[in-house]
Amino acid sequence: MKEPTDPRSSWSEYFILMSQLAASRSTCPRRSVGAVLVREHRVIATGYNGAPAGQPHCTEVGCLMENGHCVRTIHAELNALLQCARYGIQTAGVDLYCTDLPCRHCARNLVQAGVRTIYYLRPYESPETLSLVEATGVELIHLPWPNPDLETLIRHP
Ligand SMILES: [Zn+2]
Ligand SMILES: [Zn+2]
Repeated sequence: MKEPTDPRSSWSEYFILMSQLAASRSTCPRRSVGAVLVREHRVIATGYNGAPAGQPHCTEVGCLMENGHCVRTIHAELNALLQCARYGIQTAGVDLYCTDLPCRHCARNLVQAGVRTIYYLRPYESPETLSLVEATGVELIHLPWPNPDLETLIRHP
């Protein structure tokens, strides 16, 4: 936590704002989700929800719906983990900053990849996620919305 007089963005503000920036790259119109994986206050990977590389996006061909969910995309959290897999980056003990509470599928993958803490902004109806993180000892932190006015966070000369 930072002092009220401290003009700098806090670490949690910094990384959750980055997750929102990543979400701006989302290609599924149903929900824009962004994720940032962090180790020792350093970003190791980012992700947003979109179709696998080389495949058409929802924004081009529409969503692929199954049981009320779009299954065309790889979710933001999983894309961030897969970026680590692709480039050989260790994920044990990392923190996740995500615009949304992960779905139960992503939560399982995050637990198995060794994610230690999950920070998120928007709740999501997924009781399975809540029971899984509780059972596995992963810390879950619901963050308040950061200051959306970046101008106030950037000091000009
Ligand atoms: Zn979609
Ligand atoms: Zn998910």
